Amino acid sequence: MTASEPTITIVFHGVRGSYPVPGPTTLVYGGNTTSQEIRVGGRLLIFDAGTGIIKLGQRLARPKKPLEFAMFFSHNHHDHTSGLLYFKPAYLKTTKAYIYGPVDEGGDILGALSELSNPPAHPVALRNMGMNFTCDNFENGMAVRWAPGKKAPELLGKAARLHAGDVVVKALRNPKHPAEGVLNFRLEYRGRSYVYATDVEGDAENGDPLLARFANGADLLAHDGQHDAHEYNERRRGWGHSTPEMAVKTARMAGVRKLAIIHHEPAYGDAKLARMERETKKLFQNSFFAREGRKVHIP
Ligand SMILES: [Zn+2]
Ligand SMILES: [Zn+2]
Repeated sequence: MTASEPTITIVFHGVRGSYPVPGPTTLVYGGNTTSQEIRVGGRLLIFDAGTGIIKLGQRLARPKKPLEFAMFFSHNHHDHTSGLLYFKPAYLKTTKAYIYGPVDEGGDILGALSELSNPPAHPVALRNMGMNFTCDNFENGMAVRWAPGKKAPELLGKAARLHAGDVVVKALRNPKHPAEGVLNFRLEYRGRSYVYATDVEGDAENGDPLLARFANGADLLAHDGQHDAHEYNERRRGWGHSTPEMAVKTARMAGVRKLAIIHHEPAYGDAKLARMERETKKLFQNSFFAREGRKVHIP
């Protein structure tokens, strides 16, 4: 790393919640579901595999060039997993993937991804796709460390000692998403931090104190902001998603430097999201609504 290179780079490849919405009204913010490419310490991390990952895969798939990455699943809802089926590098023998995800309703991450890909749901089962992969359950309080010079990342318990230069991803189980909650991730590297909090529901009055503690002092917090306040109050309470106002409350409580609103409601077109983005900026100046393809650097 040279002095001018960013410490962490995040690329939003899909920013939409629930289901993909291609079409003329989603050209600005994008229509694909959630996936993020993260470049840190010479490593590639991927957070979630919604349909946004498909385009990333087309760029990364080079049959003669080995590819290695760690992939983290927040939970197993389709808007966070289904792009894996069309992720080209998954079909290459030169790919090595370290996959981490939660145990939900008694099923582990390997079982959930197998169920997604096994015939007749899909013609090629995960284990036959071609890539080399490991699949580990990742739970509240655990961390994954990818140390400099180490070939593979390792799974750590709560008491593990971390070292300078480690790329570390910590997990928080946030209980407010049906049915058993989601994992929020905190990426740390050389004193910088990025928190990914998709599919969370804060409290209209108090935000999300549990998440605020986890996100304390982060350089960037990406937070679900699927509903506007009117829709939330009328018919979306308890659905496991937030309003941008809730995200702002949590961002303030956590003292984060920058806030990205993610997991946009599929029924909201570009004009509506632009209005919501302007309103959110009035509450938290250093904030933006994530757009597909946008890159954010943490210096
Ligand atoms: Zn979702
Ligand atoms: Zn979900």
